[in-house]
Amino acid sequence: NAAAVRRLEALATTDPMTGHLNKRALEAEFERRLRAAARFRRPLALVVLDIDRFKSVNDTYGHAVGDVVIKGLGAVLSRCRRETDAVARFGGEEFVVVCEETDAAGALLLAERIREELMRQVFPTERGELRVTCSLGVAAFPGDGADFAALFAKADGALYVAKQSGRNQSRVAGSAAVRAA
Ligand code: GH3
Ligand code: MG
Ligand code: MG
Repeated sequence: NAAAVRRLEALATTDPMTGHLNKRALEAEFERRLRAAARFRRPLALVVLDIDRFKSVNDTYGHAVGDVVIKGLGAVLSRCRRETDAVARFGGEEFVVVCEETDAAGALLLAERIREELMRQVFPTERGELRVTCSLGVAAFPGDGADFAALFAKADGALYVAKQSGRNQSRVAGSAAVRAA
C-alpha cells in the first residue's frame, strides 16, 4: 500500500518523458526552498532554458526525433546538475533548474555547462547527424525578486534577451553579459 502511494506520488510529480519534475512539483519545491533561503539569508537561483529553433527540428526530422532531442536534453541536465539542484521539464522543450545556495554568477556557470554539454550532443537521424543548441536565462533571490512568479519572470526575460541576441547563449537578469560560443 505504501509502495502504491509512492508510485502515485511519483506519477503526479514527474514528467514521464524525462523523469524530471513536472511544472507543478517544481513550483512547490521552489516555494519550499525559497522559504529556507529567506530564513537562512542564502541565495537561490533559477535557470530557465529552451531549445533553439525547435520547431524546425520537428519540421525537418519529425516529431519522434524531436522527442529524442527533448529526452537528450533531459539526460544532459541529469549529468550537469548538482545533487541539490531541482530540475523540471516545464513544458514542451523548456526546462527549469533551481539551485540552492547559489547566486546569479554561480548559476551562470551551471547554465554555460549545460549549454556546452548540449552543443556536444550528437543525435543520429535517418537524415544524418543532428545537433541542437539552447538559450538560457538566470535570475536569483534576493536580488531579482522574492517569489517564484517574480523570479521566473526575470529569468524568462533574460532568456528572451538571449534569444534576441542570437540564441545559443546564457543571460543573467539585468546584466549585459553575453556568453556566446
Ligand atoms: P526559439 O528558438 O525561439 O525557442 O524557437 P522554437 O522553434 O524552439 O520556438 P518555440 O520554443 O516556441 O517552439 C516550441 C516547439 O516545440 C513547438 C512545438 O511544436 C514543439 N514541442 C512542444 N512539445 C513537444 C514535444 O513533447 N515533442 C516534440 N517533438 N515537440 C514538441
Ligand atoms: Mg524553443
Ligand atoms: Mg519553447
